[in-house]
Amino acid sequence: MKKVLVCGAGGFIGGHLVNKLKSLGFWVRGVDLKENEYGNNNSNEFILGDLRDPIIASKVVQDIDEIYQLAADMGGAGYIFTGEHDADVMNNSALCNLNILGAAQKSGVKKIFYSSSACMYPEYNQMDPNNPKCSEDSAYPANPDSEYGWEKLFSERLYLSYHRNYGMEVRIARFHNIFGPQGTWNGGKEKAPAAMCRKVAEAKDGDAIEVWGDGKQTRSFLYIDECVEAVIRLMDSDFTGPVNIGSEEMISINDFANMAIAISGKNLTIKNIPGPTGVRGRNSDNKLLKEKLNWEPTMSLLEGMKLTFEWINTQVKKHESVF
Ligand code: NAD
Repeated sequence: MKKVLVCGAGGFIGGHLVNKLKSLGFWVRGVDLKENEYGNNNSNEFILGDLRDPIIASKVVQDIDEIYQLAADMGGAGYIFTGEHDADVMNNSALCNLNILGAAQKSGVKKIFYSSSACMYPEYNQMDPNNPKCSEDSAYPANPDSEYGWEKLFSERLYLSYHRNYGMEVRIARFHNIFGPQGTWNGGKEKAPAAMCRKVAEAKDGDAIEVWGDGKQTRSFLYIDECVEAVIRLMDSDFTGPVNIGSEEMISINDFANMAIAISGKNLTIKNIPGPTGVRGRNSDNKLLKEKLNWEPTMSLLEGMKLTFEWINTQVKKHESVF
């Protein structure tokens, strides 16, 4: 039985990836600073550990055939774009990548997946909300709009260097806004879909939902199951990447908020307020994904949002009954 390691297994995507890998028959070891707070903890073995520590990194790679590296210090716009967490984000995530890659190479791990982000694309190609450019070949000259994006770009290059110099098999994906149940939905690290669902779930008829920026900024969002499917397909392919893993269904943030409101059935309005928003427009370009994996996501945003809203609504109610 193949033994795989999921770094960041206590996180949102990591928790779901563990389930998928187990359903495919893998033996899975997870490592994270914390267990998944929503009970999505199904690895065969879970090590509570800090990958900034090289000793932990060498411990967790023992007897492992393949690694999925998702551990990172990350969050939504309120965490990434304020500038307040830049030093932590760069230091913490870079150390995880340096340590795990070094340990993997020394212990002879053959293959490693790295989760990069669409945040590494240059800001100058994402100024027009209706026409953003995020094809994989548009990454350079580099100019990400956040230190989070710069760290991702550095780490992509780090993984590619290990591939070139040590022959390690590497797979790199650039995720575009992954969302779904069992993701962070409160506390400051939540991303737009979860924040939107939470605000709507907490609101009462007649309330106005606060949305950061003018609401005309655009994004696309990919449901978690499709993300995990794409990761497995990339790992099984012979393509190193980087490749976008995202949806091409672009929507303005106000329309997105209205979608959450419509799902809830409540009578709410939108109030646009100043706040960190990131680039004006971003959409996945799936041309390369389709070409290399012969696959593309098909689930609609509405379908994914219905499932996500239902889960967050339940979380909000549980939370309200405790406090
Ligand atoms: P997440 O925050 O839920 O998961 C990341 C996990 O890494 C967390 O559980 C965290 O505790 C863990 N971690 C952080 N520092 C660590 C350390 N020093 N040692 C051990 N574990 C540590 O985030 P996610 O949404 O599941 O994202 C997973 C990966 O995908 C990240 O690398 C992220 O940058 C990338 N990504 C996610 C999205 C998205 O929309 N969710 C988009 C682009 C890229």
